[in-house]
Order: sequence, then structure tokens, then C-alpha cells
Amino acid sequence: MSSSLLQRRWQQLPERAVRQLQAERLRHYLRTVVLPFSGRYGKLFREHGLSADSIRTLDDLRKIPFTTKADLQSTPEEPQRFRDFILVPDQKVLAHRPSTIVNALLHGRAAVKQAFESEFRPIFLTATTGRSAEPTPFFYTRRDLDHLATVAARVVEICNGRREDKMLNTFPFAPHLAFWLAHYAGTAGGVLTLSSGGGKVMGTEGNLRQLRKFKPDTLIGIPTFIYHLLHQAAEEGARCENLQRIVLGGEKVSDGLRQKLRELAGELGARNVDVLATYGFTEAKMAWPECPFPPGEPSGGYHLSPDLGILEVVDPKTGAPLPPGHAGEIVFTPLDARGSVVLRYRTGDYTDGGLAYEPCPHCGRSLPRLLGNLSRLSEVKALHLDKIKGTLVDFNELEHLLDDAPHIGAWQVELRKVNDDPLELDELILHVHALNGDDRTQLSRELRERCFSHLDLHPNRIVFHTAQEIRQLQGVGQVLKEQKLVDHRPSTLANSNPPASSRTLVTASQAG
Ligand SMILES: [Zn+2]
Repeated sequence: MSSSLLQRRWQQLPERAVRQLQAERLRHYLRTVVLPFSGRYGKLFREHGLSADSIRTLDDLRKIPFTTKADLQSTPEEPQRFRDFILVPDQKVLAHRPSTIVNALLHGRAAVKQAFESEFRPIFLTATTGRSAEPTPFFYTRRDLDHLATVAARVVEICNGRREDKMLNTFPFAPHLAFWLAHYAGTAGGVLTLSSGGGKVMGTEGNLRQLRKFKPDTLIGIPTFIYHLLHQAAEEGARCENLQRIVLGGEKVSDGLRQKLRELAGELGARNVDVLATYGFTEAKMAWPECPFPPGEPSGGYHLSPDLGILEVVDPKTGAPLPPGHAGEIVFTPLDARGSVVLRYRTGDYTDGGLAYEPCPHCGRSLPRLLGNLSRLSEVKALHLDKIKGTLVDFNELEHLLDDAPHIGAWQVELRKVNDDPLELDELILHVHALNGDDRTQLSRELRERCFSHLDLHPNRIVFHTAQEIRQLQGVGQVLKEQKLVDHRPSTLANSNPPASSRTLVTASQAG
């Protein structure tokens, strides 16, 4: 059965049937692949007295202990922890598979060997994009790459891409999910794709030249970079009338940013552009897209691939799985992965909308969907301004607040110490690009009111910059991810950029 047919079948199923099929798949996957070939999970299941048959329904998932980021991260004592999660096939077990016997009879030993290779030999990897921690590599076999192509083609389909489209992929050339998913969206989705490598490779100018010459229908990349690119294009009076959709990954996307991107696209002569977000992360080896929806209406959420993985939403404190519609932490379990495999992986990502199973109000598909705004649980801790009124500031909220603020473009929050003295008070400096012609005194007042009324936060200074200056501050084109929060406090041991997401694309890990 082809992947798109499979998808079509899954997208017509009600919740109960989806969950039942997922439980059956998981049981089969555990029995035939994970438990025999994963040293890590074979041991974990034995220790907990579990077997594949312990999973009768998805409610039984809670019996399997979580895997966390910390489990994957190497330590000085165990520098190659990621290896524990790579499947190592046992030839004797494989030889007894019914499919092996049939294949051997029909096609001979060489064919059997080739099939094992393609199923189990790692041939590709991406890595998390951690800023504080060492990147963790995640391995793919040929079979995983086929799945990546399948989900990438689904991204094109759900975003309403067409074969005659042209796509400009501005994700940085890097071993990150975001770039490769966009690449496969082109090859598997049958869309003519130009990958620019982002700002780091061609500079804003080079990308701008491609925008003018290649005239893409689809523009895909990291939100901050796409914003800079379109802003620069509009400033230079460039035209890009073909542009129909902007697909974003690697960072979360606020309504305010969507609106600003639509307006900028309008200045380039592109009307009614869909601005669509995707969510994914290194450990899932896939990403999930939004479908087009009218501006002003709520998004239909991220359309999942239920045949290839299970998303759970759990209570971040107790770990208890939550019913559809409940906010919580996102947990992922693959259903057919090879190479690196993690079960019940706690992403550290938080959704305020939860899961939905009813048909999507925009496209009508009844695929499970992940709703709401996403944020990273760890970011709440990232900006702890204890010496300013003892307020704990949530960077996610601050980010939404500033992205949604009218009359400002790109921005950056800088933390300093007064006089650079480690013992001094914290200072918060807000760097912003004021959009043309707005009264700065008025804008300053509005921003201060906004920060205070929503977050009880008083910026010490608000500094206005040109678009070019903000680009330099954020390191556009120099660093992989634009820096929206910089910590210049001399005393802090670790740079508290918002921790590193392994989210990629379409959340680039990583997401970041
Ligand atoms: Zn939809």
C-alpha cells in the first residue's frame, strides 16, 4: 500500500479506531523490532516485568517509563550514550521472521541480505541543535529515510502545495531535521526546490536575489530569518508575486508574526499568502504541518501521522496521560522507526491546546491533530530576573508579547548587569526595530505598558535600531538560530539563551 493511500485510510478513521490501530502497531513493533534489537529497551522492559503483550490499548502506554533528554545526553563517564538507543539486529532472530523465509525462497540470499541492510544499517544522521549541551546524533536507516520522505510529502500535501510549484528552502545547510525535511518535501513531494542554505551561506542578499529570480510559490525557513528576508525585500522594493505560502519551522510562530509576514508578502505583490507552521523534533525524525486557514481564525493545529508515531499529552508534573483537549507536555513514541529509537520521549515542549481527533474544521481530514500554542517548559526557567522584583519571567510569554506588539519589527531582549558588575542589579534592555514613521516616544510608552500589564516587567531601556542593526544584533546569517534573548551578565556560568531546543522544523531542533 502506498504511503499516500495509507494516509488516506487513516485520515478517515474516528478516534477509537485510530487508537486501536496504533496500539496494535505498537505491540507488533515492540515484539518484532524494539524488544529483540534494542539493548536499552529490552533491559528496561525486563526490569519492569513488561512485554509487548503488556500493551493491549493505548491506555497501557503509561506502563512504559519515559525517556528524557537527559537519558540521551552524553556525560564524561558515558560519552556515547546515544549508542544505547540504536537498534542492533540479531541475525538469528531475523532469520526466523516469516518475511525473511518468504524473501529467501523467492529472491535468494543476496536479496535477504540487502533487505536487512536497508532496514537496519544506519546511513544518515541528524543532530539536536542544543546550545548548552553537546548535540545528540540521531541515526536513520534506508527505511527511516523512506518514512522521512513520506512525511515530507504529507507536509506538501497538507499545506496545499502543488507539483508545478517552486520552493525556496532557506533552512541552513546543517545536519538538522528542518533542512532535510524541506529537502525531502521537494524530492518526494515532486516540487522544484532551490536550497539556499540560509543567511549563513548566501547572506540576506543572496537569498533576496533568489527570491527575485527564482520567484518561489513556497518559501520555507526559520521564522526570524524569513521575517528579515521579506523585510529587506520590501525595503528594496523587490517583487515576488508568485508567493502563495510561507512554511515555518524551528521556532514557534505567533499570530502577530503571521500577520506581519502576510503584510510584508503583500508589499512584495503577493496576496492572500498562507503562513503555516510545522512542528517536529530530532527524536521524532518527522514533523507535522498546519493546513491553510483563514487569517483571524484559529489554526487547525499540527496534522499528525498516526501510522508512524504516537503523540501523547501528559501532565508535566505527574506524568499522567491527559485526555484530548487538555494542555500538557508532548510525549512521542515511534511506530516503525529503525536506527535510533526512543520510546515515550518527553519533549519538554508544552501545548496549551492538547490533542484533537474530530475532523479538522479547515481541511476536513480526521487525522489526529495537536492544537494550541507550543512552548518549551525549560524556557520558563531561562529568564529568571530574581533581582528585579523577584519576578519569574516566562520567555515564551515575553516572546509572544513582543511578536504581537504592533508597530515593531524584529527585536532582541538583552540582560546585563549595571556597570557590568556581577554583584549589581540585573538590567533588561529591549532592542527593537520601529516600523516606519511611528512616534518613538509613543511606541516606547506602549511597549512599557505592554510589558508591565502582561508580565509585571519593566525594561530598563528601550533602544531603537534600524533593520540592519537588529540583524547584526541577532546574528542573522552568522549563527544558526537568530538570537532573541542574549545574556551579557558576567556572573552567569552558562549563557542563558533560551535553552536549546531539539525542535527542528519544521521545528530545526532543534526544534532546535
Ligand atoms: Zn486541516
